[in-house]
Amino acid sequence: MAFALPDTSALPRYPLIIGDSLVERGSGEAFAHIYPGNGQCVAEVAGAGAADVDAAVSAARAAQPAWAALPGDARRDLLLQLAASLKQHAGELALLETLGNGSPVMMAGYAPIVAAQRFEYYAGWADKIRGQTLQAWNGPAHNYVDYAPYGVVGAVIPWNGPLFAAAMVMGPVLAAGNCIVIKAPELAPYSVMRLGELFLEAGFPPGVVNVLAGGPEVGAAIVGHADVDKVQFVGSGATARKVLASAAANLTPCCLELGGKSAVIVFDDADLARAGQMGLSGAISVSGQGCVNGTRLLVQRGIYEQYLGVMQQIAARITVGDPLDAGTVMGPVISEAAVQRILGSVEQARDAGARVLTGGTRLDGDYAEGFFLPLTVIADVAHDSDLAQHEVFGPVLSVTPFDTEEEAIHLANDCDYGLGAYIHTSDLRRAHHVAGHMQAGMVHVNASGEGMQPFAPFGGMKQSGFGRLGGEQGLLEFLQARNVWMNLKPAQA
Ligand code: NAD
Repeated sequence: MAFALPDTSALPRYPLIIGDSLVERGSGEAFAHIYPGNGQCVAEVAGAGAADVDAAVSAARAAQPAWAALPGDARRDLLLQLAASLKQHAGELALLETLGNGSPVMMAGYAPIVAAQRFEYYAGWADKIRGQTLQAWNGPAHNYVDYAPYGVVGAVIPWNGPLFAAAMVMGPVLAAGNCIVIKAPELAPYSVMRLGELFLEAGFPPGVVNVLAGGPEVGAAIVGHADVDKVQFVGSGATARKVLASAAANLTPCCLELGGKSAVIVFDDADLARAGQMGLSGAISVSGQGCVNGTRLLVQRGIYEQYLGVMQQIAARITVGDPLDAGTVMGPVISEAAVQRILGSVEQARDAGARVLTGGTRLDGDYAEGFFLPLTVIADVAHDSDLAQHEVFGPVLSVTPFDTEEEAIHLANDCDYGLGAYIHTSDLRRAHHVAGHMQAGMVHVNASGEGMQPFAPFGGMKQSGFGRLGGEQGLLEFLQARNVWMNLKPAQA
């Protein structure tokens, strides 16, 4: 027996939204979308072709001057209207999210709500974009800076939280007066396709938001398009290298939100029950398929075995199960290829002498036809091993001991990625010191994700990317400063 498909009767019909056209069949290749809960094909989605990408960019270009010229309060009200619509359609969107990537309904239920919060936050900025007046040394002059939108933003996002990723990007892009062409991810396309419809229903002028479903070729056509003014890419570092190469042809500026291997540092004075629960959350949340999940645990030697014991106790209570069951905390991973890749990482660590404390093998029985892996905690992992250094993107945690605060800082930073870091200690002096030395775009102290808020900047250091989404910095990411110098010297008769 396998877990049943969610109700597919309400699948959105239009993989392409270009201007005011809802397009049922794109001119590109159709791709089969597989439900991770049982490995069955949900739908053949006819993705965009090159002509569709051109048409979408043209529609965005045509709509942009009027969108930017719309008074800020009108852009604000439309964004608020869209946020209200997300809340009204929350149940439907959550189901589409589950159908797309297999995330449990309990977790998927938050997606429309946090997406709505992003639009509400940026609605608040739409009527508050302002410049600065400068003191001119060489006056008399009136010298000021104002901010102009880029124009057309081309956006590509991944499958692991598509609705939230779309909202993170679209909120600031639209508030700033840009128009957008966004690709719905091929592994989880439905929630973003539906989001595109909701924009039109909310009264956004046609062309402001254009949605194209499709795979890598569609993404490549968007980011390499000569008439796209700014690229926003969310995905892996491997793809980001190709994105930068395509964008280079037109010198298109890029904001890149990439992968991570975030360290979780547990000091010997930490609240172990809380640190245990939060330490495990890096593998539980989206089955470990979150860019900023803490997956590299560094634990002070004096409490090492005790902490491992706490983790094992909590892990035993975590239910992996049918994504549609309201009690399920952990669902499947995204694909068969992901299952094989993740199990390969576990085997490699086992062969190198690491201790697999929980999980480590594929689930069978009801789970056999889906892509289910259990919560896997691996202790005694060498810091320089593949498991500790590279993104696994699955429910696997590596645990490594350390002795001193300096060593913890060194180990946490000695990694190519720099997205998140988590510190558990009851000593605030130490927390402050260590946080100030983290090479990471987001640091949590005695917490596990609460800091990822609409009002705060989010982004990476090192190979986790550059640019920021969220907060005022996220708005400025999609605005360009313009320095205006106005000579006020009296005319010389
Ligand atoms: P991916 O890089 O394989 O794909 C991301 C998107 O890029 C997909 O929509 C894909 O179709 C598209 N794409 C593929 N080739 C392309 C090309 N040549 N040009 C343009 N677009 C192309 O990543 P994924 O497997 O979908 O997602 C997982 C990765 O995303 C992980 O590394 C994860 O950490 C990262 N991620 C980062 C963030 C963040 O905010 N920092 C958020 C979520 C996921």
